[in-house]
Amino acid sequence: MRLQAIRDVEAYVPPAVSFTDTETPGQIFGENVFSSVVMQKRLPKLVYKSVMATIEHGAMLDPLVADAVASAMKDWAMEKGASHYAHVFYPLTGLTAEKHDSFLEPVGDGTALAEFAGKTLVQGEPDASSFPNGGLRNTFEARGYTGWDVTSPAYVLENPNGNTLCIPTVFVSMTGEALDHKTPLLRSQQAMGEHAERILRLFGHDKPAKVVSFCGPEQEYFLVDRHFFLARPDLLNSGRTLFGAKPPKGQEFDDHYFGAIPERVLGFMMDTERELFKLGIPAKTRHNEVAPGQFEIAPMFERGNIAADHQQLLMTTFKAIAKKHGMECLFHEKPFQGVNGSGKHVNFSLGNNQLGSLLVPGDTPHDNAQFLVFCAAVIRAVHKYAGLLRVSVASATNDHRLGANEAPPAIISIFLGDQLADVFEQIKNGAATSSKGKGSMIIGVDTLPVLPTDPGDRNRTSPFAFTGNRFEFRAPGSMQTVSGPMVTINTIMAESLDYIATDLEAAVAAGTDFDEAVQSLLTQIITDHGAVVFNGDGYSDAWPIEAEKRGLANLRTTLDALPELITEPAMDLFEKYKVFNHREMHSRYEIGLEQYALTIGVEARLTLEMGTTQILPAAVRYQTELAVNVGALSAAGVDADTAPLLAVTGPVGELRSALAGLKAALDAETGHEALAEAEHARDALLPAMAAVRTAADALEDLVADDLWPLPTYQEMLFIL
Ligand code: ADP
Ligand code: MG
Repeated sequence: MRLQAIRDVEAYVPPAVSFTDTETPGQIFGENVFSSVVMQKRLPKLVYKSVMATIEHGAMLDPLVADAVASAMKDWAMEKGASHYAHVFYPLTGLTAEKHDSFLEPVGDGTALAEFAGKTLVQGEPDASSFPNGGLRNTFEARGYTGWDVTSPAYVLENPNGNTLCIPTVFVSMTGEALDHKTPLLRSQQAMGEHAERILRLFGHDKPAKVVSFCGPEQEYFLVDRHFFLARPDLLNSGRTLFGAKPPKGQEFDDHYFGAIPERVLGFMMDTERELFKLGIPAKTRHNEVAPGQFEIAPMFERGNIAADHQQLLMTTFKAIAKKHGMECLFHEKPFQGVNGSGKHVNFSLGNNQLGSLLVPGDTPHDNAQFLVFCAAVIRAVHKYAGLLRVSVASATNDHRLGANEAPPAIISIFLGDQLADVFEQIKNGAATSSKGKGSMIIGVDTLPVLPTDPGDRNRTSPFAFTGNRFEFRAPGSMQTVSGPMVTINTIMAESLDYIATDLEAAVAAGTDFDEAVQSLLTQIITDHGAVVFNGDGYSDAWPIEAEKRGLANLRTTLDALPELITEPAMDLFEKYKVFNHREMHSRYEIGLEQYALTIGVEARLTLEMGTTQILPAAVRYQTELAVNVGALSAAGVDADTAPLLAVTGPVGELRSALAGLKAALDAETGHEALAEAEHARDALLPAMAAVRTAADALEDLVADDLWPLPTYQEMLFIL
C-alpha cells in the first residue's frame, strides 16, 4: 500500500490554476455574498434601513421585513444558480452543520413553485437528536431550532452538483438554551459592548457607536499528499499519526519558515484565496510555518461573530480545495509527534467604526488614559479568569500541543512588552508613594508617557500577548472554533469593564476628580492583578516555579481544566452577563468530558487495529525472513549472525504485550459515566497507546523498508 502510494504520488499531476485578467480580487470579492451593498440595490429603502438597524444597532427584526428580505434573497440566490437553501449552524462538535431544503414547494395541482417565505428564512427545525447537548434536551423534545443571524451575511456556496444559499443561524433547544457556538458569541458580544460604551461615555464620548469585538484568526495547517493520507488509517480517522518514528531530518534546520512556498502549494493557495474572496473572506497573508509541510493563513480581522463564521467556512473550503489538488489539509493540533503543532492565534480587540480599536495606545495623554483603562480591564480579566481562558481551549487534541516546547504553556499569563510593562510598573509605584501627595512620582493622567503604536519586541512564548493594537491569544488549537475563546474573552471583559465603569461612575457622582479616580483605579488594578504580567521566556524551566509563587494556575490537561466551567464564580459570571445559565454551563462541561473520551477512544481502537493488522504482521514477516535466513545459512554450514533477528524479536514481543495491554484497557468496564470514561481515557488508554507506539516506532527503524506498511514521516512531510 505504501509503495503504491509513493508511485502514485510521483505520477500525480496537480491541476493547473489560472486566473483570467478580468478576475482581479477587487472584482470577485464578495461576489457570492448577500451583502449590504446587494441589499441596498434589491430591497425597498425602508426595508433596507430596518435590516441595517438590526445589523448595526441590534434593533428587533420586524417580521414583515423578513418576508421582503427572504424574497429578495431567494431571487438573488436563484440568479446565482442556487436551487436549495441551508440553515448553517455550529453545533458543539466544533464542526459546521447544514440542513438543506429545496426552494421548490409543491402547490397541489402537481406543479411546484419556488417559495421562500420570511418565516423559513428566520427559523428552521432540524432534528437535533444527533448533536451533542450535554443533557439539555430530553429525547422526547429532540427538536432544535435554527434562527437567522441577521448580522452575518448569507452567501451562495458553489458546488459542481448545484449551488446552495447558506444562511448563518443560531441553534437552540426548544427552551431557548444554546446548543451551538454562535448563540453565546452573540450574547457575550452584546454584554461586552454595553459596558465598554459606559467607559467611553465616562471619557466624554457622549453617544458612542455600538462597541463590538474584533477577531483576526491566524490559522496554521499541514498539507500532505492524499495518496499518503489514504494509506494512513490513523490520519484518516483521527486526524493525527498514532505511529511514526522520528525522521532523520526534522525541522532542526529551520529552513521551512518563511521559505519559498512549493509550487503545488502555491497553486492550492491561489485557488483557496479565489474561493475565499468570492465568499467575502478577506484572506491576507500566507506563508510557510515552522514545520515541514506546515503553512499559515491569516485573514484580515473582522467583527468577532463574522470572523467566527468565516473561519469555519475557511476550514471547509481548505479541505475541499486541498482534495482538488491531490492533498489533504490537516487541521489537527498535533498531526506528527516530535514536529511543531498547529495553533489558531485569536487576535482580539474591541472598538467601533467611529473610534477604531480601543486598544491602540494613541499619542495624546488623554487618549492614553482611555487606552490604559481598557488595557487594565484586560489585565484584570485575564488574571481573575485565567482558568476560564484555559478551559476555552481545552481539548484532547490541543493537549498534545499546549505546554510542549513550541506552543504557549498551559499557564495563562500576559505579555505587555517592555514599554507598557514599564508604564504599569510606574502606575503601581505611583500608588506606593501616594503619601507624598501629588508629587512627580504619581503618574497623573496629564503626565502619562506617549506610547509607540508598535511595541517592537515580540514575545512568541506568551499565551496572551499585547501586539501593538490588539491582544493575541495564542493558546487556541488549530482545529477549534474561535467562538469558544471569543465567548470567554468577551464575557470576562464585560465583567471587568462593568467593574471599572461602576467604580468610575461612583467616583464621578461623589465629586472626585475624574483624572484622580482613573489614576487610583489603575493603581489598584495593577497592584491586585499585576502578577499575571510576565515578559520573560514562557518555555524556561523556571517559569512554572515562578508562576506557582505568583499564584497562577497551571492546568496541564483538559481534565484539569474542565472543572473551571462549573465553579460557582464561573457559573455566576456567565449568568450575570446572560451568556450561559447554569444548565448551559453544566452541559458544556459534560460535552467537554464526552468529546475528550470519544476522541481518545477512537484513537485507542485505531492504535489496536493498526498495531494488530498492519504493524505486527509486517514485523513478523521480517522476523520470519531473518529466521529463515539464519536457518538456511546454518544448514549451509555458514556462521549465521543472529543479532538482527534478536534485535527484531525484542520489540516484536513488546508490541505483542503492549497490544494485549491496550485491548484489556479498552475492554475494561468504566460504568459509562462521563467523568469516569474521561479519566479512564487519560489514565489507562493514553499510556497503553504510548506503549504500543514505542514498540512500533522501534520496529519501524528495524524492519525492511519494502515490508513497512505505513507511509513514513519523511515521506509525508517532505514530499509535496
Ligand atoms: P503575526 O504572525 O505577527 O502575529 P499576522 O499578520 O500573521 O501577524 O496576523 C495578524 C492578525 O491579527 C491578522 O489576522 C490581522 O487581521 C489581525 N489584526 C490586526 N489588527 C487587529 C485588531 N485591531 N484587532 C483584531 N485583530 C487584528
Ligand atoms: Mg500571530
